[in-house]
Parts: sequence; structure tokens; C-alpha cells
Amino acid sequence: MLSMFRLENKNALVTGGSKGIGLGMAKALGKAGAKVVIASRGKEDLEKATEELRELGVEAKGKRVDVTDKNSVEELVEFVVDEYGSLDVLVNNAGMNIRKKLVDVEEKDWDQVLDTNLKGIFLTGQAAARQMIKQQSGKIINISSIFGGVGSSYQTSYAASKGGINQLTRVWADELSSQGICVNAIAPAYIKTPMTQGWLADEERYHQIKSQTMIGRVGELEDLYGPVVFFASDASSYVTGQILYVDGGWTAK
Ligand code: NDP
Repeated sequence: MLSMFRLENKNALVTGGSKGIGLGMAKALGKAGAKVVIASRGKEDLEKATEELRELGVEAKGKRVDVTDKNSVEELVEFVVDEYGSLDVLVNNAGMNIRKKLVDVEEKDWDQVLDTNLKGIFLTGQAAARQMIKQQSGKIINISSIFGGVGSSYQTSYAASKGGINQLTRVWADELSSQGICVNAIAPAYIKTPMTQGWLADEERYHQIKSQTMIGRVGELEDLYGPVVFFASDASSYVTGQILYVDGGWTAK
């Protein structure tokens, strides 16, 4: 029965795979048997992460991309197909945050967050879908956030982008399911990564965040391993259009 979770013969692309959640998910997919391409802007981080994956026994390649740039994203999908022959799993993960009070958010902050988190997800999902439609199979996993579903101060641009990702997930699921493509989203609460390091360093805030969850702790990268392998694998073949909250119970309160 566990064989339905295995990912041998699957080729996965993880955007923002050079660190944090993306790298964690690339490790999980690779350990489950997938070949992986990780993609991000920074050359050094990418090389280091690719090496880390290879040391774990994962067949991995790194490719530079800026997800806000259509040509760059299209080249990335071409690269995956040229190298591995198909694109079976997209983890649409690259993202960022600028936390500010509503009254302080500048237009350039809004543009940067929305361009990366929402336009980036759209461009990458579109390029991947074109390939997956040719194959008549594929899995798209969008990385959302609890703030796509619940309100929280200082998240104006970020929450808008993540709410948009939830809707893209449902729209694409409806449009692509008949072509063998499942589209789902994972919506984590706070996970310890380079992105949240500074925010979680404040002790009072850290304890407040912990107490928002039912489980009573902040998330670790490993908490996302099971969910991403589930959505990437045949174990989820009748699941599409869903937003899975991996949040220690935060949003169920
Ligand atoms: P990190 O900052 O640790 O990693 C972000 C990754 O995205 C890096 O690899 C970065 O590489 C890449 N990236 C950023 N901008 C671009 C771009 N324009 N083009 C290509 N790659 C880019 O973030 P996390 O791992 O914490 O977050 C990953 C995803 O998970 C995001 O979508 C985030 O919103 C989401 N998330 C995170 C949570 C958390 O608590 N950490 C909770 C809920 C959701 P580089 O800068 O070199 O391009």
C-alpha cells in the first residue's frame, strides 16, 4: 500500500528550492524517489542546496530563475523537460514577505510581494500546465499560507497574494482536472526558515505564535514532508482543488 506514496519515475520542479521550505520539500520528494530540479535567483545558495541534495542521494539539478520574469520561467520548464524528459510535479513555492502596517505599505512593497508571490505563481503554473497538458498528467502544488485564509496585522500585501493563490488553486483544479492534472495548495502556519528567522527571534512574539496553535509549537520543515509527498504522489489521485492547512491547528480555533 505504501508504494502509492513513492515517486520513482516522477520529475519534480521546486521553485524557491535553494533554502527554507522549498529545499525541505525538495529533500522529501527526492527521498521518496523523485528526480528534482530546484530553482531560485541566487547562484551560490542554489549550488550549495543542489550539493546538499546530492549528498542525500537525491538526483538533483539547480537552475537559476526569476519567477517574476515570463521568459525565465518558460526556460526553466524547458530545462526540466530537456534534462529529465517530463515535468510531473511542480511545487510552486518561491515567495517573500514585507511586513508593514497598512498605513506604511509603499506601492513598491505591494508590487514586489504581489509580483513574486502571485504573478510568479501564475507564470510558473501556466508554463508547467502547458507541459502537463501535453503529457495529460501532472501535479501542481501551490504554497499558500494560513494568511490566505485568516486575517492578521502587518500582512496586507502577503495575505492578498496568498488569498489569490488559494483562488488560483481552485480555478486551475477545475480547468485542468479533466486533463489528468491535480492542483492543490499547502497552507502552513509559521515554519522556521530564513524568511521567518528575524520575525521569530522576538521571544514574546515567538511565544504568542506558539500559543496560537493547538499543538503548542512553531512548525519545522519536516512537518511539511508528508503533505508534499502526499500531494505529489498517486496517494492523492482523487484530491484536487484543496487547501491543506499545515498549521498545528491554528485555523481550526
Ligand atoms: P525563504 O526566504 O527561506 O526562501 C524563499 C525561496 O524563494 C528562496 O529559495 C529564494 O531564493 C526564492 N525566491 C524568492 N524570490 C524569488 C524569485 N523572484 N524568483 C525565484 N526564486 C525566488 O522562504 P520560506 O522557505 O520561508 O518560504 C517559502 C514559501 O513558503 C513562500 O511562498 C512563503 O510565503 C511560504 N510560507 C512560508 C511560511 C514560513 O513560516 N516560513 C509559512 C507559510 C507559507 P532567491 O532569493 O535566491 O531567489
